[in-house]
Amino acid sequence: ISMNELQQLDKQHFLHPSSSIKQQQEHGPAFIFTEGNGIYLKDISGKKVIDGLSSLWNVNIGHGRKEMGQAAFDQMSKLAYSSCFATFSHEPAILLAAKLAELTPGDLNATFFTSGGSESNDTAIKLVRHYWILKNQPQKKKIISRTKSYHGLTIGATSATGIKVFRDFTQSLAPDFYYADHFSPESLRELIEVEGPDTIAAFISEPVQGTGGVLIAPDGYFQEIRKICDEYHILFISDEVITGFGRTGKYFGIEHYGVIPDMMTVAKGITSGYAPLGGVILSQKIHHEFIELSTETLFHGYTYSGHPVSCAVALKNIEILEREKLVENARVMGEELLKGFQWLQKEHEIVGEVRGLGLMAAIELVQDKATHTRFAKPLAPTIATELMKRGLNCRAVVLEGADTLVFAPPFIITPKVVNRMIEILHDTLSIVESSSHS
Ligand code: PLP
Repeated sequence: ISMNELQQLDKQHFLHPSSSIKQQQEHGPAFIFTEGNGIYLKDISGKKVIDGLSSLWNVNIGHGRKEMGQAAFDQMSKLAYSSCFATFSHEPAILLAAKLAELTPGDLNATFFTSGGSESNDTAIKLVRHYWILKNQPQKKKIISRTKSYHGLTIGATSATGIKVFRDFTQSLAPDFYYADHFSPESLRELIEVEGPDTIAAFISEPVQGTGGVLIAPDGYFQEIRKICDEYHILFISDEVITGFGRTGKYFGIEHYGVIPDMMTVAKGITSGYAPLGGVILSQKIHHEFIELSTETLFHGYTYSGHPVSCAVALKNIEILEREKLVENARVMGEELLKGFQWLQKEHEIVGEVRGLGLMAAIELVQDKATHTRFAKPLAPTIATELMKRGLNCRAVVLEGADTLVFAPPFIITPKVVNRMIEILHDTLSIVESSSHS
């Protein structure tokens, strides 16, 4: 089937997630990918690009791993599906839950499986509220998150998302959600005082805000957050959907700050995108309180909670991360990438702040470096399109006044490919600069 035919069918029948419906109708999809190999993606016209965002921050071990396919094939052939409801269980989910207890920091210990990040955050929100019901404090139900945060797009996760355009997309969101300033622990404290600590169930945060544009909290932020949560008896949920499984150069993003959350939500990198899977990991303390206080059925669960194929794929993914020391490589290559960005910052007028933690990195675009003035019309989307033409996939972030390019390449990246990314960026920025000056 030809590219043209596929484009027509796409336009007629496929409503794309996170896309401009108008643009899709006018142009159809710009890229129809057919193959992935290592750090590269190839489209139907034969064009090959560096997947500088690991697709959606998730294909961390790179594309085209045959042993991942084999793990899925083996599990599907043996037991493609059975439920984990009530008294039923199966080996892949049990072994994965045990492995997660080993990998996660502190006393994080028991996992509830889902199919992705949004479901994980919805589950965490319901579990913390249920926890306070069990503790005879049902009035503790409010959830506080941060401005510029992203927690997914099911109705609960949308309600927790600080980036307003996602909430404004629909109406009648879930009640009892509040937002503290994303870089100020004091703002959380003030909000708690205004709302009343005995009405608040939990605070949820990404260790590094991804969709917001790779926003790294100031030093001491999470240490202070942990203190405030303890002081007011509020549970702390770390949303590790992007940062989990090595993206920041440690297994979990929150480990950079030396604090232990009460719950962690994961997805994406748990399988490197080879199968859909997510989870909520509870601390031993919370898990034991659930065991002690719970008398009835846990009225929460999905058909695909602990899908055997996804769990088998996750186990293989973790085996690869460990065997190839990919988390360490993410840390080392992240430093190389950031050095490259710092060089670009010196070379280019329009490169403002650059930042990164492991292989989560960003370049801010500015009209005037000295005053941090942004362009009236953001440049990031144009530059992202130009980068793609030259063989580099990244994401343009223009939400909430940002004008940012974000990058999150697979952990298998080599110094050579880092250099190639910097070269493509250098060429593209030079061309954009000279055309914006003429
Ligand atoms: N939480 C964070 C921090 C995310 O970045 C995302 C997705 O990008 C989600 C949650 C939602 O995950 P999903 O798209 O798998 O539902």
